Amino acid sequence: MIDHRLSEEYSDLRKTVEEFAHEQVAPVIGEFYEKEEFPYELVDQMGKMGLFGLPFPEEHGGMGGDYFALCLALEELARVDSSVAITLEAGVSLGAMPIYRFGSDEQKQRWLPELCSGEKLAGFGLTEPGGGSDAGATRTTAVLDGDEWVINGSKSFITNSGTDITSAVTVTCVTGNHDGRKEISAIIVPAGTPGFSVAPKYSKVGWNASDTHELSFDDCRVPASNLLGERGKGYAQFLRILDEGRIAIAAVSVGLAQGCVDECLRYTREREAFGHTIGTYQVIQFKIADMEARTHTARLAYYHAASKMLCGEPFKKEAAIAKLVASNAAMDNARDATQIFGGYGFMNEFPVGRFYRDAKILEIGEGTSEVQRMLIARELGATG
Ligand SMILES: Cc1cc2nc3c(=O)[nH]c(=O)nc-3n(C[C@H](O)[C@H](O)[C@H](O)COP(=O)(O)OP(=O)(O)OC[C@H]3O[C@@H](n4cnc5c(N)ncnc54)[C@H](O)[C@@H]3O)c2cc1C
Repeated sequence: MIDHRLSEEYSDLRKTVEEFAHEQVAPVIGEFYEKEEFPYELVDQMGKMGLFGLPFPEEHGGMGGDYFALCLALEELARVDSSVAITLEAGVSLGAMPIYRFGSDEQKQRWLPELCSGEKLAGFGLTEPGGGSDAGATRTTAVLDGDEWVINGSKSFITNSGTDITSAVTVTCVTGNHDGRKEISAIIVPAGTPGFSVAPKYSKVGWNASDTHELSFDDCRVPASNLLGERGKGYAQFLRILDEGRIAIAAVSVGLAQGCVDECLRYTREREAFGHTIGTYQVIQFKIADMEARTHTARLAYYHAASKMLCGEPFKKEAAIAKLVASNAAMDNARDATQIFGGYGFMNEFPVGRFYRDAKILEIGEGTSEVQRMLIARELGATG
């Protein structure tokens, strides 16, 4: 049975986050973005609203919701600002989720309550300076020495890894080699562990109020019990985390795409050229119609992928499709919105300038568009 309406619970959540984004995020985010500052106050408010605990059970300090609820919240945040949205996305889907899905009871008890409350953030370190798409090419090593792992290597572009409230980063490491095949495991590294250093934040094109660093590990020792799940399961673990994460990034992309429509509707009713508001010109109307159509179809794609995931059905192909079409929609809408705003579209004081800078990474992070196409082709068996 198909029902296009959101349940009352989902609807209420969407509305609450929409109001928060407009009332609390919109007035201040431009300044954080320009100063490239992490918005601690907003993260604190989001924590108090329960957003970091949305998909986790109450026994771990969560809200007892699900992954789709997280996606709805991400969409509404990204409709106003993507730095705030990605801080939540990475905090939940990359920081807390691996611990929830694969951690021991002790690890869940130790880490999840503070992550679900938003008082602390965690990151997930997969990408390395040598490459991100080929995640199996991990070079960071972890060697067991007595009851400790000794970690050496580095990770690139890790979100939420260097804030004042970062409590840990889960990193993938090579823990062995069997017949030429790397054994990859995931290990939780608490912030402040000797030998774990965080480089100064990157200067980025977009997502300027989010936190991204290169990390290095130099004989960094953590307890053997910090291994996440089973030894050698790191590759399978992060594939699952990335499949889910792609639905979340699709939701962020849909939010950005919708934000472009919102801004253009407002602007084209006010801006005049040649004696008329520009919204009276059909070429502008068609642009906005195309933007809305892309946003709508991308939203359906992520709703469908999330629905398959929540039903426990395979969803790899649907998640890759959602991420591919939604990031594409975000990029196209950001370009069209900037064009509709003319010179003002190139000014930082208008959100569309920020949307333009923030859209590109959506085609890169958590698997590039090429990687999504590879996954879709593989799932179809279209590989010759
Ligand atoms: C702001 C930001 C935040 C990020 N946050 C995190 C994080 O929290 N954790 C984390 O682990 N990573 C994070 N990343 C890393 C991100 O996931 C990677 O940048 C991304 O997966 C691509 O990897 P890469 O940059 O090494 O590109 P590469 O893998 O070097 O790819 C370069 C180009 O080659 C293409 N390519 C690669 N292989 C193939 C192929 N087989 N066929 C065709 N084309 C191919 C790619 O599509 C791309 O166009 C972040 C990145 C950024 C910029």
